[in-house]
Amino acid sequence: MRWSKSHIYTLKDAPNDAEIPSHKLMARAGLIRKVAPGIYTYGNLALRALRKLETIIRQELDSRGCQEVLMPMVHPAELWQETNRWKEMGDGLLKFKNRNGQDFCLGATHEEVITDYVRKDVKSYRDLPVNLYQIQTKYRDEIRPRFGLMRGREFIMKDAYSFDVDEAAALKNYDLMYDGYKAIFDRLGLQYRIVQADAGNIGGSKTHEFQVLAEAGEDHLMVCDSCSFAANIEVAPALSANQSQATASGALKESFATPGLKTIAALSKVTGVPESKLVKTMFFSTNSGLDPKDTALKPVAVCLAGNDEVNPIKLKNVLGLANPPLLLTDEEVRQVTGASPGSCGPVGLKIPIYIDSAMAGFVDFIVGANTDDQHLKNVNIGRDFTPAKTADIRLAKAGDLCPECGSSSKPGHYRSVRGIEVGHVFYLGTKYSKAMGATYLNTEGVPTPIEMGCYGIGVSRTIQSAIEQSHDNDGIIWPRAIAPFDVHIVVLDPDQEEVRQSAEIIYRDLQAHGLDVFMDDRAERPGVKFKDADLLGMPVRLNIGGRGLKEGVVELIKRKDKSMTKVKAEDATEQTLALLKSL
Ligand code: ATP
Ligand code: MG
Repeated sequence: MRWSKSHIYTLKDAPNDAEIPSHKLMARAGLIRKVAPGIYTYGNLALRALRKLETIIRQELDSRGCQEVLMPMVHPAELWQETNRWKEMGDGLLKFKNRNGQDFCLGATHEEVITDYVRKDVKSYRDLPVNLYQIQTKYRDEIRPRFGLMRGREFIMKDAYSFDVDEAAALKNYDLMYDGYKAIFDRLGLQYRIVQADAGNIGGSKTHEFQVLAEAGEDHLMVCDSCSFAANIEVAPALSANQSQATASGALKESFATPGLKTIAALSKVTGVPESKLVKTMFFSTNSGLDPKDTALKPVAVCLAGNDEVNPIKLKNVLGLANPPLLLTDEEVRQVTGASPGSCGPVGLKIPIYIDSAMAGFVDFIVGANTDDQHLKNVNIGRDFTPAKTADIRLAKAGDLCPECGSSSKPGHYRSVRGIEVGHVFYLGTKYSKAMGATYLNTEGVPTPIEMGCYGIGVSRTIQSAIEQSHDNDGIIWPRAIAPFDVHIVVLDPDQEEVRQSAEIIYRDLQAHGLDVFMDDRAERPGVKFKDADLLGMPVRLNIGGRGLKEGVVELIKRKDKSMTKVKAEDATEQTLALLKSL
C-alpha cells in the first residue's frame, strides 16, 4: 500500500480523553477514530492488525476441531428471558423495541443464542461433542468506557462455546481451549499470566483469565513470588500469616465512651490497639435491585479486621448473589443499628452477621456499641454474638501467604501486579442448558442437560494490549505476528526518478515474497517521514534515497532498537527477509 493513496492521517497530539500510552498511540497513528464514547472506527492499519490476529485465532481453533459460525447481533428478549439474564444483566444490555413493539437487545455475549441454536439440532449423545466459535462485534453498555479499545461499548470478541455429554468431557474441551489460548497468546509474543478468576454472571465454576501484564491494566492480580500460582484479586484466597490462637480472658463485655471516634485509625490511636486487631463492621443490602417490588431492605453485617477491606466479589459469592451487594447508606445503617456507621458493631444485631476468617481467632476485641459515640470492649465471638457464617471475605494483600505453596517449608507470598484481561475460559456446567431445555438423549435414552463451556478473547482489546506492552517514546513497536505491515519503505527523494524506480522495484519484490509492504511515497520532508515511521511502528523499515543509491545501498532499520545496517540495494529483499525472520 502506498501512503500517498491511503486514508491514513497521523496526529502530533493525542486527543484529550486518551490517558494511557496505547490509546494515545492508536489515535496518533490514525488506527482508530472516536465516533461516540466507547465506539470507534478502525482505520485500515488497525483492521489489518485485527485480521492478522483473527487469522491466528482461526488457525489455532480450527486445528483443534472447533467450527466457526456467525450469530446475529440483534437478539430477541425471549431468549434472554429464558435464563433470566434479561433482568440480571441490568443496564449492561442495550435494549430496544422494533416497529411492532417487540423487545430486542444487542448481543453482549451469546450463550442464549448458541444454546438455542444447538438445542434445535442436537438429539442424542452421538451428536456431541460440538465446539462452535464466532468472531463478531459485541455491544455492552459499559458505564465508563475508557482507554480506547480497552473498554469499549462496541468491541470485537471471539467467543466459543462447547457442548458435551458430561463433566469429564466438558473439562477436556476446557483444557483444549486453555491450550489453544496459550498457543494464540504465545504466537503474539505477549507477556501474560493465566490467573484464577470469578465466573461473574456468566455462571459456572472453573474459570481462568488470560491477563496481559501492563501497568495500565484495570485488573489487579496476585501472583506468588515463589510458585506459579496467580489469581485475580477478585478471587485470590486471603490466608493470614501467623494466625494467633489466643484464648479469651473471660472478662465480660463493657461499653466505653468514644466521642468523635468515627474511624478505625482514630480508634486505634486512642485505644492503643493496632488497626489489625480492631474490628470494623460494614453493612450491605442483599436486595438484587432487579425487582422493583423488592423494596423491603434485606441487610447483612460483615465484620473484619480493621486494616482489611471487604472483597465485593467474595461477599457476592458467599451470599449467593448474582451481583456484588451495595453498601447501605448512613441513613439505612441507622435504621438497622440505631447508630451512625462509626459506632456500629455486631452485638445485639437482628440481622445475619458474616465474619471474615482473618478475625475468626480474635478474642476480647473492641467493636462499635450500636449507640452513637460508644464502643464495647472484651467482646467475644459466640458468647456475645453468633455469626451466620465465617468465610474468606477480605481482599488479599501483597505479602499474604500463597494458597498453593504457603504451607511448604519455603512459603511463597503474594506480589501484586496489574493485568489486562484479554481472554477468559469458563466451565459452565448445565446452567444454560437446564434453563433453556437443551438436552440430549443419553445411551439409555434419558433426556440429559448438555454440559457447556464458553471461551472469549477480546480481539480488539488484544490489539491495543500488544501496543500497551510494546512501544517506546516515539511510537508503536508492533509484534511481527500482528503488525499491519511487515515492512515500511521510506522513499526519501520521491522527486528523483531513479529513487522512485528503485523503491518501486524493491516494493514489488518484497510483495512477491509474500510480505505486506507499506511505502511512504508522500512528498514530505525526511524528518516527517521518519517520525511517522517510528509512530506507525512496523517491525522493519527501509530508507531508500538518492545519496544511498549513488553508493548502491539502502538503509535497513529494526524498529525495536532502531539499529541500522546499510545493505546493497539488490540484496534489500533477502536482507529484509532475514531480519524479519530474526524477530
Ligand atoms: P471485564 O471484566 O474486562 O469487563 P468481562 O469479564 O466482562 O470483561 P468476558 O465476558 O469474559 O468479559 O468477555 C470476554 C473477553 O472480551 C474479555 O476477556 C475481554 O478481553 C473482552 N472484553 C470484555 N468487555 C470488553 C470491553 N468493554 N471492551 C473491550 N473488550 C472487552
Ligand atoms: Mg471475563
